[in-house]
Amino acid sequence: MSCPILAGCGDPPLPPFEPPSESQYSTEKLEVASDFPAELCSGNLALMDAQLRWLEQEAGRELREPTWLMMYPDDATIDACLDLESEPVAGCWDAPVVHTTWGAASHELGHAYAHPVRARPLNLLQEGLAEATEGTVHGRMRGSREKLGDYLFEPVGTNTTVYEAAGHFVRWLLEEYGMTTTLEMYARTRPGMSEAELSAVCEDVLGVAREGLLAGYVTDAKDYYPGVGPFACGQGAEALEWHEDGVSWEGEMSCDDGHSIGRYLANGEVEFWRRWRVEVPVTAMYEVTTSADGGAMTRCLTTPIDEASLPAMVDGLEHDWWGFGPLYRPPGIGTQVPLFQAPILLEAGVYDFWIAERTDEHLLGEYPPASIMYVEAHGARRFASLRA
Ligand SMILES: [Zn+2]
Repeated sequence: MSCPILAGCGDPPLPPFEPPSESQYSTEKLEVASDFPAELCSGNLALMDAQLRWLEQEAGRELREPTWLMMYPDDATIDACLDLESEPVAGCWDAPVVHTTWGAASHELGHAYAHPVRARPLNLLQEGLAEATEGTVHGRMRGSREKLGDYLFEPVGTNTTVYEAAGHFVRWLLEEYGMTTTLEMYARTRPGMSEAELSAVCEDVLGVAREGLLAGYVTDAKDYYPGVGPFACGQGAEALEWHEDGVSWEGEMSCDDGHSIGRYLANGEVEFWRRWRVEVPVTAMYEVTTSADGGAMTRCLTTPIDEASLPAMVDGLEHDWWGFGPLYRPPGIGTQVPLFQAPILLEAGVYDFWIAERTDEHLLGEYPPASIMYVEAHGARRFASLRA
C-alpha cells in the first residue's frame, strides 16, 4: 500500500472534506452558508473575516485554506454539535467546519484557526485559547486561581467555571508571552501527558517549570484582562470622532452597508445592530439618545487591572458594563446601559455604543428608516434639533 505524500505513513488517512452545503458567501478567509432564509449581513461577514486575519497577524501564521462556517439563528439547537457535546451548545468546531450561532462565532473561529497547530492539545489550553481570543473581558479573582493546576489535565466539558479559569489563564499567557509562544505551548501538549512531561515543555518553551508557572500566575496575574481582537470593545468597530461637545450618527442601516450586523432570531425575526467606538474626552454628565428601537453602551477596559483599581460603576449598573458578557453578541436592551437613561455620568475613556432596529420586512428587502444616535455633553444644544 502506498503512503499518501502529505500525511505521514503512520497517520490515519484524512477524511475527504465535505462542506456543510453550497457556500453562499465567500470572504478572503471564509466560505459561509446559513441555516436561515434571511441574508447574512456584510457586517457579520466582515467581522468574522477580520477575526481570522487578526489571529493570523498575531501568530505570524497564515491559514492555507478558507475556513468553512455554517451559521444558525440564536438559540437554535445545532444538531451537528450534539455528536460532540452532551448538551445543546451555541456553537462547535467539528473539523473542518464551524457550526455556530452569532454569539459563539468568534470563539469557534479561534478553534478553527488553532486546529492546524494541533488538533488535540491539552483541553484546557484548547478552550482557553478560544475563550481568550473571542473578544470578551476575562476576570478571575485571587483565591480562585489556585485551582488551575487541578483543571490542567481534565477535559473542560461544558463546565463554565473551568472555561472561565482556562480563558483567564490563557489570556494571561498571551499578555506575558505573546501569541507565538503561547501557540508553541499549545502545539507541544496533548491529553494524557504527565505532569513531568508538561513541566519539561514549560521549561523548554517558557523557561519556567510547571509549578513556577502556576505560582507566577496565581500571584502576578491581574484580576481583569481586556478583550482582544476585532470583536472586543473599542476594537473592530467604526470610530466616531468627538467634535466639541459630542458625536452623532445618522443613517440607514442595511444588510449590505459593510457595518450593520444582523442578529438572526430563532423565530425568524432579524435585528440590525451597528456599533461605534467613541472616546469620551472628559468625565462629565452626558445625554445619550437614539431614535432606534433600542441601544446600549459598554465601557471598554483598555488595560489589565485589579478589582481594587476598577473605576466605580455608574449607579445601578451590573458588571456587564465592562463587557464581561459576550460583547460581540449585541447586548440585549437593559443588559447593559439603556441609551435612554439620560443624563448619565460618563468617565473619560473608550466606549462602544450600539443601536438596534428590529425588522420583519428584511426578507422583502425593506429596511428600517434612518436612525439617529448621539452622545452629547449635558446642557449642550448642538443636537437639540434631533431630539424632537
Ligand atoms: Zn470551545
